[in-house]
Amino acid sequence: MEKRNRWKDAAGLIADSFRMSKANYVTLTVSAIIESAKSILEMMAPAMLVDRITGAGAFGPVLGIVFFYALAVLLADASRKAVSLFSTAFGYKAGNRAALSVGQKGMRIDYGGWEDTETYEGMLRAARSTWVFQNITDLLCENWLASVIALVPVLYILSHVDAFLLLPLSALLLLELFLERKTDDRIYSLEEGRAADEKKLHYNEKVMTDLKYGKEIRLYGAMQAVAEKYEESRRKVFSFQRRQKKAEVQFRVCAAAIACVEGILVYLAAIREYGRGAVTLSFFLMFVGAVRLFTESVKSIVENFEWVRDLAGYYSDYRKFMDGPEGFLAAGQKDEALSGSFDIEFRNVSFRYPGTDEYVLKNVNLTFPYGKKTAIVGENGAGKTTLVKLLLRLYDVTEGEILAGGVNIKEIRYQDYLGLYAAVFQDYKLHSFSIRENIAFQEEGKDGQIWELLKKQGLYEAVKETKRGLDTFLTRELDQDGKDFSGGEKQRLAMVRALYRNAPFLVLDEPTAAIDPIAELKYFERLKEDTAGRTAVFVTHRMASTKFADNIVVLERGEVVESGDFAALVGSGGLFEKLFQIQADFYK
Ligand code: ADP
Repeated sequence: MEKRNRWKDAAGLIADSFRMSKANYVTLTVSAIIESAKSILEMMAPAMLVDRITGAGAFGPVLGIVFFYALAVLLADASRKAVSLFSTAFGYKAGNRAALSVGQKGMRIDYGGWEDTETYEGMLRAARSTWVFQNITDLLCENWLASVIALVPVLYILSHVDAFLLLPLSALLLLELFLERKTDDRIYSLEEGRAADEKKLHYNEKVMTDLKYGKEIRLYGAMQAVAEKYEESRRKVFSFQRRQKKAEVQFRVCAAAIACVEGILVYLAAIREYGRGAVTLSFFLMFVGAVRLFTESVKSIVENFEWVRDLAGYYSDYRKFMDGPEGFLAAGQKDEALSGSFDIEFRNVSFRYPGTDEYVLKNVNLTFPYGKKTAIVGENGAGKTTLVKLLLRLYDVTEGEILAGGVNIKEIRYQDYLGLYAAVFQDYKLHSFSIRENIAFQEEGKDGQIWELLKKQGLYEAVKETKRGLDTFLTRELDQDGKDFSGGEKQRLAMVRALYRNAPFLVLDEPTAAIDPIAELKYFERLKEDTAGRTAVFVTHRMASTKFADNIVVLERGEVVESGDFAALVGSGGLFEKLFQIQADFYK
């Protein structure tokens, strides 16, 4: 895997987050200034009070200082809270914008990338990393900048004290930072194991509470088994948590001991200076406050460096995915091939899925003639769906070429090429959007056409009787008034969506899978009408459904073994006839 430079990523993260929300940097810088002013005031207030009390000052000014101090702290806290109102919103906005970018990029990368585990995982990691944009500004401004500002007066005060006294204090500080680093490493090393078990825990929790698992759980009496699995993963997660907590507690105890020694040293040093008459009582107090602020600020600065480095690690996941190639979308610019009506030809096409060795399609030669209906048949696993994926250029061929009107489809602008097709996939997806949006996405003003198509597909009544017609949501997942259609109805709705697109090529992958034989007969009669004047390719494993096709292509283990029309194939004594007979006998 590519090794990236953390500090370069940190710089990239800061630059990106700055671009996303400059306003957030402004508000949080204001907040940092207020915070550091408050810390400095807290350090100086006791000294100012002592000055007044021990000096000739009257009671009045002392009260004045107390009021001034209380008011200033109140103002500082209130104004920081007010500023945080804006910064929280800005932070969310930056995080959401990053999430949107990941989503948009995800929709642009080659489809094959989604089926490739590494790319897909990369996308998920990028999506999970977008929170860094929400946090980086807080870290930099509120924590880091505030500590740096506070250090200025602190260092000034400490510079007036014998430098020799500061040595043990600095050593203690370094020791604490070292222990903290060790603890973090220990906690981090346990994190991987914990994350793996946590994933199982969440999965098991989902199985218990998600509707979609509910049927099987009840039917197969799996309640006890699932509960035990949940318990087992919970125990493992808990064991990791306990070890992490233990490391943290050990560190906290050490840190407390260090703070105790620090306190003793500071007071001893201050008492010695005061005893020598080197400093005043008020300076004594200011010194104690300054040392406290010094250790706090240095710790915060170092910790924040570490955190920025950690965030840079997440950011590198985001960057890697965002900078990844866009493949098909970026390549191929020709569009002249798309002007007329043309055949699509597979020439010596072989294919294996990326990252696998086995050829799923072998030296396929076939033509989808313009305006004709082609059926692709074959048994399960023969390569039918894969052939469709290549036709739609969801993948590129491994060898050979696919030509559209004589032009290699790799040279054609991808969006234009996809624009030629409407498809209903075997595993088609409808969305929890309105019926209109499912069919026309964002296009408006074509309701007449939609109703017409619904009528043709026998869905008119089903949609008409809903409360809100085309505005009705599919499923009730996002809307109580949504409608749950039956499997067959949903498939017909997917067909309406494909026909609405009015594309010259229609591809149907196992369109009758969810339909009974009688409905299937009607379906194919209608299909002939629906696809009149268009080139249609449909995939099926039911031989009888291919009667109306102009040409039938028979696939067996990735190879074209026969082709011709129904009459020719059914009398040929080949694979088609054999499969047809088996299926016919079954239906008898
Ligand atoms: P059919 O549609 O004829 O049932 P497919 O085209 O779905 O066949 O599958 C053909 C072969 O390709 C099968 O052996 C299947 O396991 C394999 N295959 C399908 N999809 C993938 C994938 N994404 N990665 C690797 N192999 C796959």
